[in-house]
Amino acid sequence: MDNKFKSGFVTIIGKPNVGKSTLMNRLLGEKLSIVSPKPQTTRHQIKGILNGEDLQIIFLDTPGFLEPRYELHNRMMDYIKIALKDADLILFITDANHFPTDYDQQMLKLIGNIKIPKLALLNKIDLVEPETIEPLLVELRKEDFDKVIPISLLVEKDIAPFLDTITTYLPYNPPYYGPEELSDLPLRFFAQEIIREQIFLNFRDEIPYSSTVMVENYQDFPNKVEIDANIWLERKSQKIILIGKGGEKIKSLRMNAEREIYKITGKRAKLTLWIKIKPNWRKKKNALKEFGYQ
Ligand code: GDP
Ligand code: MG
Repeated sequence: MDNKFKSGFVTIIGKPNVGKSTLMNRLLGEKLSIVSPKPQTTRHQIKGILNGEDLQIIFLDTPGFLEPRYELHNRMMDYIKIALKDADLILFITDANHFPTDYDQQMLKLIGNIKIPKLALLNKIDLVEPETIEPLLVELRKEDFDKVIPISLLVEKDIAPFLDTITTYLPYNPPYYGPEELSDLPLRFFAQEIIREQIFLNFRDEIPYSSTVMVENYQDFPNKVEIDANIWLERKSQKIILIGKGGEKIKSLRMNAEREIYKITGKRAKLTLWIKIKPNWRKKKNALKEFGYQ
């Protein structure tokens, strides 16, 4: 292996809605993680993998954590701690419009003692008055960051310099993942996230938070993909809402998801959805394990 190669794990942390998914998507140049105006749509630790010349970056997108009311939220905290421990670089993202929130302060405390490189990204600077930016940078520079970077992930045209900064902090290492591991495993996972995103976009109240999606079967053909997925809910009444009158809601959810999967894979998607019920799964340790919230 060529000794110029760099690879490593970059853990992205920040409050829900600060732009973590937007960053991943922009860096990867593809829709690999989900973006939605609603907070907490990303519950899983997503591994988006960027492959460049002499470079492989594995991004761990942490879920936002809430009050530890449910068992699920404790799991989220565990994810964050594990993701931090395994990282070569921590990327703390905050929203210039709201910094510092209680969440920011908790996070800064959590990462304060970790002795690995850390970058702070002050995002959404397009939303604030220019003169308010500098004082926020001053605050962030008081923390133990290697670099503090103001940015607008939505407006900034060229984020290549930022990618170069990340790369500077990564170790020389051969790639962790070979080409054969990169194709279908992430796609299977992205299919799952796309279906979840559609649930978040199209249903209200407790349905998004009571649902989880498991892809049971993912078959990749030269010009199509066939996917079977289960949508798990907590109550029968939720199932009726998700299906809609004459199956109308679930049909449009399926078609939207198929369209999104097409955008990523470039292949026609045939999606079969099954709706299942597991009462109070969010509070059950076994169910959480079964659904991959380990
Ligand atoms: P996450 O919850 O941290 O993953 O946040 P998302 O990436 O899903 O972004 C939340 C919302 O903020 C989305 O509607 C984004 O389009 C928006 N957003 C992200 N970055 C910026 C930015 O630089 N400026 C503005 N105005 N909006 C942004
Ligand atoms: Mg997100």
